[in-house]
Amino acid sequence: MQEEIAGCRACPRLTRYREEIARVKRRAYRTETYWGRPVPGFGDPKAWLVVVGLAPAAHGANRTGRMFTGDRSGDFLYAALHRAGFANQPSSLRRGDGLRLRGAYITAPCRCAPPDNQPTPDELRRCAPFLSRELALLPNRRVFLALGAIGFKAILDALAREGDRVPGPRRRFGHGVSFALPSGRRVAASYHVSQQNTQTGRLTPEMFDAVLATLRGS
Ligand code: SF4
Repeated sequence: MQEEIAGCRACPRLTRYREEIARVKRRAYRTETYWGRPVPGFGDPKAWLVVVGLAPAAHGANRTGRMFTGDRSGDFLYAALHRAGFANQPSSLRRGDGLRLRGAYITAPCRCAPPDNQPTPDELRRCAPFLSRELALLPNRRVFLALGAIGFKAILDALAREGDRVPGPRRRFGHGVSFALPSGRRVAASYHVSQQNTQTGRLTPEMFDAVLATLRGS
């Protein structure tokens, strides 16, 4: 499945963009070989917590080939996962750096770095089956933490496709939102761990730690 994801070229705009970024590179990384392909999920196959982001960053996961790895968003996320006991080390630098997650798995509804961090609705629809198929391979999944509104919608859609949907109007995204599904499983949400949020104080480590702490008891 990871190889299938990494080989996908179904979205022409994203394929062009991710490969162009990998070819041109950022000056600071000019000696590196960029991944430049779709990025599979990463984590513990026995995970009970599934973290759902948005898409690889152009010079982060699109460079390193691992979700949230090699950029400030990842620095924030993995440090928090380490404090909460989900990660064996506080940083994620590159594939093969020894990082292991325990009880958590990180994925995204769009596997290719999009221009301006904005996948189109069509691109998200095209990529959605990968999310569903990846979830199906995590037998212990029971808590889903969406980072941002797009991840929130994507995980609700994926769970609805499994037949697990709260009746009535669709829940709205908000930081700290948390609710149970008919199956007993739980969906929670946080502001995305992007620099835009973490550097402006919209999302602080304390706020994110508090969300993770509530999930531990779910
Ligand atoms: S976004 Fe998803 S469906 Fe589109 S090319 Fe990337 S991996 Fe394939």
